[in-house]
Amino acid sequence: MPDSPCPPVPRVLGVAVPSPLRRLFDYRPCGESPPGGWQPGLRVQVPFGRREVVGVVVECRDASELPLSSLRPVAGCLDGAPLPADWLWLCRFAARYYQHALGDTLHQAMPGLLRQGRALEARTRERWCVTVAGHQDAPPGLARAPRQAELLSMLRQHPHGLVSQAILAQSFSRDQLRALADKGLVARHEEPLAASPAAEGDAGLTEPALPLNREQAVALAAIHERLDGFHPCLLHGVTGSGKTEVYLQLIEAVIGRHRQALVLVPEIGLTPQNLARFRRRFRAPVVALHSGLTDHERLDAWEAAASGRAPIVLGTRSAIFTPLARPGVIIVDEEHDGSYKQQDGLRYHARDLAVARAHHHHIPLLLGSATPSLESLQRALHGDYRHLRLTRRASRHAPARLELVDLRGRRQGGLIPPVIETVRETLAAGHQVLVFINRRGFAPTLACHACGWMAECDHCDARMTLHRQPPLLACHHCDRRRALPDTCPECHSVDLRPLGSGTERTEETLASLFPEVPVHRIDRDSTRRRDALEQMLAEVRRGEPCLLVGTQMLAKGHHLPHVTLVVVVNADAGLYASDFRALEHSAQLLEQVAGRAGRAAHPGRVLVQTLHTDDPHLRLLAERGYDALASQLLEERRAARLPPFRFLALLRLEAPREAAVVDLGGLAAEALRQRIGERGLEVDCLGPVPAPMERRQNRYHLQLMLAADRRSQLHEAGAWLVTWLEGRPEARRVRWSLDIDPQTLA
Ligand code: ADP
Ligand code: ZN
Ligand code: ZN
Repeated sequence: MPDSPCPPVPRVLGVAVPSPLRRLFDYRPCGESPPGGWQPGLRVQVPFGRREVVGVVVECRDASELPLSSLRPVAGCLDGAPLPADWLWLCRFAARYYQHALGDTLHQAMPGLLRQGRALEARTRERWCVTVAGHQDAPPGLARAPRQAELLSMLRQHPHGLVSQAILAQSFSRDQLRALADKGLVARHEEPLAASPAAEGDAGLTEPALPLNREQAVALAAIHERLDGFHPCLLHGVTGSGKTEVYLQLIEAVIGRHRQALVLVPEIGLTPQNLARFRRRFRAPVVALHSGLTDHERLDAWEAAASGRAPIVLGTRSAIFTPLARPGVIIVDEEHDGSYKQQDGLRYHARDLAVARAHHHHIPLLLGSATPSLESLQRALHGDYRHLRLTRRASRHAPARLELVDLRGRRQGGLIPPVIETVRETLAAGHQVLVFINRRGFAPTLACHACGWMAECDHCDARMTLHRQPPLLACHHCDRRRALPDTCPECHSVDLRPLGSGTERTEETLASLFPEVPVHRIDRDSTRRRDALEQMLAEVRRGEPCLLVGTQMLAKGHHLPHVTLVVVVNADAGLYASDFRALEHSAQLLEQVAGRAGRAAHPGRVLVQTLHTDDPHLRLLAERGYDALASQLLEERRAARLPPFRFLALLRLEAPREAAVVDLGGLAAEALRQRIGERGLEVDCLGPVPAPMERRQNRYHLQLMLAADRRSQLHEAGAWLVTWLEGRPEARRVRWSLDIDPQTLA
């Protein structure tokens, strides 16, 4: 719906309130109009049920379906000007596309303080600079004020001035500052807290751009050709091929035209190392949106982006909702990464919203990856995206091929003897080794050797993971914990043993095999403390021989120049999984892990242990690389009529009682099939079927899948289903959600 200019005082405000209900609520405007008149995007305080909530005006109308006299007035308007229009547009788009309530979408997409009704304005601080008069040789009026004279001479050493805190920290006082100001020797400036250029821009820090190699130059020129229109590009470059350098130079061009760049990185990609790389390059402030920000900092960053003061905004998934005054480009790094998909509430995919947003703003979009998602790859191959290739590493050595190693036979902590030998040789040569195992904990479970009992979660259809640090059993699906039993609960035998290996066990084995080298374990458990990861990586970057054991946390993004050998403990998890994307995801992960090897002076090797050395997919990946496997998978998807050749939506239903879920699932499927028939839609409705893990967190999970060749038809069916569910009394006892373009069928 276009945002038509509002009548001076509309009689009805259609307000989106934070609620799961997919509708607006009508209110009457309150007595006084906001300065610019009533408009969409203004936050209002409204009575809702027995509470007052913060809602957003979405429509200004003169009529309501309810009698005007029955409408309650808004309690007050919270904004002098509407929240940014581009943000409101994106929220409305996302709510419609993902069939989610607009009120809840807006609520999730705004910083916490705005949700609480706080004003959107820049917080400021004071900066004090010496005036021309203050730079004279003997400024007047200081003869009898030695502290003021000292303060002045201190400030003279700071050409960009100093902020109040820095001055007060040197035990000068506010009175002394004021006295100098009264004499006209210093001047006070107010500047915003976030993204104030003077605060960051020390020209000396700016690092020059690297001269691009041929492929990088061609890619950059291709994007550069059209900076003024929607222009989606897939930057498909092997690990270490210098994609980031292309981003940096593209951003330089964009901010040179006084436009803003929005850069999305995966959850584990926004490392201090990456951020520092951006900050070193640009004199302009880089605003980073990450989970470590306080509420105030988050609001400051949002405001700096919305006002246009921040030329570069870098953030994880939710940063796609950052308003921009002058959007110039959107870059999505590692576009295939799973962390771009939100798995609860508004189940959006930040990459897909980036496409919509770039289209809306008529700006270029750059999706970068060494292992593009099949969705993006297909679009590039089909010509919808410009396909830009970087086939060579910027450094000397090509990415290493995967060498498959037969895992059958004797193992120690998950590694077979020839692999252990190679690790030994690599360490002896003074290099580092990365051992990748995508399972945290000591062992996947604890088993009784007498009767075969295994530790299972009471609340999930899953085994509990054995941890040693601290010792306990934990369910990784519901976070339930249990003390380690001394004897088997079934047969009372004391012969309980760990089954399989996780990171802790691998760490322990390696430490005993190689007592003279440090072993660093990097997984969610070892990096809970803030900065723990950076500290460990800083240690690793010093370059002494060491062993790194880690999960996918280690696999992505990190530049570990001294690692020359990568060992994948077990590649088999994704090979025969039921989820149709499992193979794609595990191939991406393997390629990313392999990409950690040999990035600097020495070439790398990658040993992949598997029980299935003859598996055709794994062989294809090992012998011909990700691109070859991806083309093969695309052919398989086409034949099986699966995404990206078809569109899916997944209805998930869950409740404590199985019957409630099964009954509602059956009714929903029946009603939907009837509707599809009546409307003549070409939509398949599959199920209901139990979810792959039927019982999780002590609740039953059921699924209904919708599949269609045409997106519009899928959306029509999905929208109808959601409305139907909202109207069913049975649905109140069941938690349900519709996932458009689901990334996992779990
Ligand atoms: P990617 O993002 O594709 O994994 P990076 O941009 O991190 O690759 O580049 C990998 C390494 O190569 C970095 O150390 C980077 O400084 C270096 N590099 C990138 N481009 C060039 C270039 N044109 N000349 C020299 N070194 C480069
Ligand atoms: Zn037993
Ligand atoms: Zn559990």
